[in-house]
Amino acid sequence: MKAVYNISMLKLVKVVLDIPIYEPFDYTCDEINAKIGSRVSVSFGRSLRLGVIIDIKDFDDGPKTYKLKKINQLIDEAPILSKEILKTCKWAASYYHHPIGQVVFSALSPLHRKDKKVPKKILEIVYKSLEKDLKLNSEQKKIYTDLIKYKEVFRINVIRGVTGSGKTELYAKLAQNSLKDNAQILVMVPEINLIPQTIERFRRYLDIEPLQYHSNLTATQKYKVWEACSRERRIIVIGTRSSVFLPFKKLSLIVIDEEHDSSYKQTEMFKYNARDIGILRGRNFKCQVILGSATPSFETIHNINVNKYKEYRLEKRYHKAKLPLITVIDSSIDRPDEGISNALKNSMKIELDRNRKVILFLGRRGFSNTVICSNCKKIVRCPKCDTYLTYHKDVEKLICHKCDFKKDFGQTKKCCDNPILSPLGIGTQRVENKVKKLFPNKNVLRVDSDNITSKKDLDDFVYKANNNQIDIFIGTQMIVKGHDFQDISLVGIINIDGGLYSTDFRGLEKTAQLITQVSGRTGRQSEQGNVLIQTHNPSHNILKLILKDGYERFSKIGLEQRQNVNLPPYSNIGLVTLNSSNQNFTKSILNKIKEMKRNKSIFIYGPSQSKIPKRNNRYSYQVLIGSNSSKLLSEHISKIKIYLASLNKKIKWHIDIDPLEL
Ligand code: ADP
Ligand code: ZN
Repeated sequence: MKAVYNISMLKLVKVVLDIPIYEPFDYTCDEINAKIGSRVSVSFGRSLRLGVIIDIKDFDDGPKTYKLKKINQLIDEAPILSKEILKTCKWAASYYHHPIGQVVFSALSPLHRKDKKVPKKILEIVYKSLEKDLKLNSEQKKIYTDLIKYKEVFRINVIRGVTGSGKTELYAKLAQNSLKDNAQILVMVPEINLIPQTIERFRRYLDIEPLQYHSNLTATQKYKVWEACSRERRIIVIGTRSSVFLPFKKLSLIVIDEEHDSSYKQTEMFKYNARDIGILRGRNFKCQVILGSATPSFETIHNINVNKYKEYRLEKRYHKAKLPLITVIDSSIDRPDEGISNALKNSMKIELDRNRKVILFLGRRGFSNTVICSNCKKIVRCPKCDTYLTYHKDVEKLICHKCDFKKDFGQTKKCCDNPILSPLGIGTQRVENKVKKLFPNKNVLRVDSDNITSKKDLDDFVYKANNNQIDIFIGTQMIVKGHDFQDISLVGIINIDGGLYSTDFRGLEKTAQLITQVSGRTGRQSEQGNVLIQTHNPSHNILKLILKDGYERFSKIGLEQRQNVNLPPYSNIGLVTLNSSNQNFTKSILNKIKEMKRNKSIFIYGPSQSKIPKRNNRYSYQVLIGSNSSKLLSEHISKIKIYLASLNKKIKWHIDIDPLEL
């Protein structure tokens, strides 16, 4: 295939493929219609592969002849990715140190990723009449009036509103206003299970049906939304983090609700944060970006403090309900039985007897998190990963949540002469069993990732919740986020200790957000709700601070502590993780990285064991690299990348910029 071409008719095209290679590939092309953003088929190795042109150059300033392969076929006569989305992808690839091809392919619809020819399936945009008049209260109106003055300006606005203050109605009003101009709107929520209610709340105030976008759609459904975005149609998309890569043509408003939520960060493969990419796209389109939260992330609070973001506040709850009354239960005195202390049981009874509803919140999934031998006190671990195994009662198995190793509970190897294995700690299933025994006439629903796995489960859950069919919700993170269910008068936090003793530097920030958000699920209509928190440590300083002075006061102190140790938001960090089957080898490479020559404003911590130290018989270690300059950090990580790429393939590595968990 290699040949010497006459330069006059040929162009040099830079093509990216869906493979983990950092640079684009050069091909030649004599198609007049070849454009940046079009797909091509190229020969790569021994096969033909789909690629996307990300750059086209003349041969003018290069050598006169070139030994390059010619592209095999131009697939799209017109570009399918705009300059703007490609610019976003290039930025993200360089910022997150991720292979450009994989980033660009994440901006293609699933159909475009696979098939050459994609049949045109046009999404029908449904026009309808407004179902409700949207009147803002005076607090909301003040913010709205100010915001629309800056409509066509790139500006990052934070709406810090207590839970139940009516942020969603404010977003809907802004959306109404923007849609008048025939433009496109993106509203992001952190969890897929928030999409149905968010759509419902927006649609009544709009004259078109909002579109939804998330991982639970079929390839064709995704393609239709993708196509609508790329055709400059008047639409509003409500989606999860992946919607930030949709090929919008004319965005006029971006809303990122619950901006503090760590689900905006993708933790596998391409480790981007959709909040930050959303902000970048706002800049590209010169449009307004709205970040909403009752508990803004420390990053966002810092950006408000340094005047990068503009802050607006909603201080009152819309339905005038007071914020809940929080009581701490000392688990060492009122010992919980299967997760439920006497105090919690009694409060539940009072609320259920008067037909109110209860949420019980737990941090972990599974029947119980670990299994201990009550004789020798050994905790049962995964033989491959060294992590604690989780007991799942429904299948009577011990399961490793990291590598999916499974073992029958009954056949677990003896640990001592007299093994008495018993599940330790409390999981959702165990609490569910107990609650069903305590309140046999009440409807109990467990909401966790074991129980809610499909779109149908999700729809069922939301339907039941909204139609008075559930009295007691038991669940993990899933039930905490932004839901607006009726008549919840009591929230029980089964055990807060894991969050108080986290080893991660963001642990307390996350715990404070959690307490505030969980509490926000109660008393949203008119009565004051109750929150009971069970802990072995009622006198924990930070817990006391959060409860007494609230999230805002806590965040001031938390930020001071971050500044003292120069961690984000006061510095930029990246995590370089390596794994191989040889523990010492892994560590020695990281030590070499540590010794690499560097600017004195770069700091490095480690090597230390990763959060999951052993997985599938591979040992994982990491170094944390930081700097007060994100440019310097990025340059230094680029150097490390070059070194890593030169190593033997037995060692695997990945880079996480702005990691949320260490
Ligand atoms: P947040 O998102 O700030 O926690 P919500 O947006 O869920 O608060 O609002 C709390 C409740 O108040 C919801 O039931 C919502 O429908 C209602 N609400 C807020 N603003 C308005 C408004 N302007 N008109 C009618 N209902 C409103
Ligand atoms: Zn395992």
